[in-house]
Amino acid sequence: MDGHLLAGTPVTEDTLLAGGYRKYIGETIDVYYNKELCIHSGNCVKGNAAVFEVGRRPWVIPDNGEAPQVAQVINTCPSGALKFIKKEQAE
Ligand code: SF4
Repeated sequence: MDGHLLAGTPVTEDTLLAGGYRKYIGETIDVYYNKELCIHSGNCVKGNAAVFEVGRRPWVIPDNGEAPQVAQVINTCPSGALKFIKKEQAE
C-alpha cells in the first residue's frame, strides 16, 4: 500500500495523527504507525529489521535506515498501518 497516501490523498501529519497514527521521528523521514490497522504480516520487519523491531522501544527507529529504503519497506505494508512523510514533503 502506498505509504504516502491515505485514501488516495498525500498524507499530512494532521490527518495521520487525527487518524490514530503514532509518529516516529527521523532525520529525513518520519514514520507513522497505527496499531489498530496492523495485521502482523511482518513485511516491515522482514524489509528492514534495524528500523522495525518488534519488542524494542521505540519499535520504529527511522534513522537506522536510509530514507528511500525505509519508504520502500513502508510501501510493502499491506494494511496501511505504516505511513511516511519525507521531510522535504512536509515543507
Ligand atoms: S508491514 Fe504493516 S501490517 Fe505488516 S506487521 Fe508491519 S505494520 Fe503491521
